Amino acid sequence: MPSPHNPLQNYLLSALPETVFKRLLPNLELVTLPLGEVLYESGGRLRHVYFPTTSIISLLYVFEDGGSAEIAVVGNEGVLGISLFMGGETTPSRAVVQSAGYGYRLKSSLMKDEFHRAGPLMHLLLRYTQALITQMSQTAVCNRHHSIEQQLCRWLLLSLDRLSSDSLTMTQELIANMLGVRREGVTQAAGKLQRAGLINYGRGRIDVLDRPGLEKAVCECYAVVKLEFDRLLTDFPHSDREQAPFRVGDAPLDSVRSTPAEAMAATQSMTSQVLQASQAQQAPPTSDVSLAKPK
Ligand SMILES: [Zn+2]
Repeated sequence: MPSPHNPLQNYLLSALPETVFKRLLPNLELVTLPLGEVLYESGGRLRHVYFPTTSIISLLYVFEDGGSAEIAVVGNEGVLGISLFMGGETTPSRAVVQSAGYGYRLKSSLMKDEFHRAGPLMHLLLRYTQALITQMSQTAVCNRHHSIEQQLCRWLLLSLDRLSSDSLTMTQELIANMLGVRREGVTQAAGKLQRAGLINYGRGRIDVLDRPGLEKAVCECYAVVKLEFDRLLTDFPHSDREQAPFRVGDAPLDSVRSTPAEAMAATQSMTSQVLQASQAQQAPPTSDVSLAKPK
């Protein structure tokens, strides 16, 4: 029986030219990633980089009082461990498995060797890093300016895009930790989405019943992140493959923006506003402090 696991289930690996992929393949090690496993701690050195296939990894900042807030998610579209090839080696964030599944890991030294060839892998990873920066900036502005209900919609959609089903195994407590808000806030927001017929939740599981409805309820942040990932990754010029098995842009976004041109203009305008705001404020890239009160 053929294995249900394949490194090509990760978009970045699938977008590499055949020659590069074949060079990496013997060193890609399949790993099980159970819920809650910490893949690296704040300030820790990375022995491996991870390419998730069916799992989702959350990058969190953990506050001194034990509370936390999610900075970004990494799933089958990406790679965990950008600090390794960016040259900084460590980050202040913690990486935790948010949705159990599988992935492939590669030894840090081998990743660096391939990156320093300055070929397609380097170009692809730089594009991915730019998309990840967009996700991080958008998480910061979303946490500051949008309601918990909108943040929950954004979080659900970003998670669903990285999974093959419409269900998430996740307690409200964990969602509160991800969003950096009180649990009651999540209960209230989830209740509202359930009454609107968009989701069904209970006993550590959330089923999305009406995805287009969720896309209507979400703030603009989801589209900004999604369109930037699509723009940077799905038309990667070095790929010699006919069709990648995964596209970040599979789900329709018509309900969020009326035309692709409008959506792109909105994305560019929003991104430049985010950059201007961060240059002007020098604010820490975490959530609204007044919201971050988990005990
Ligand atoms: Zn938002």
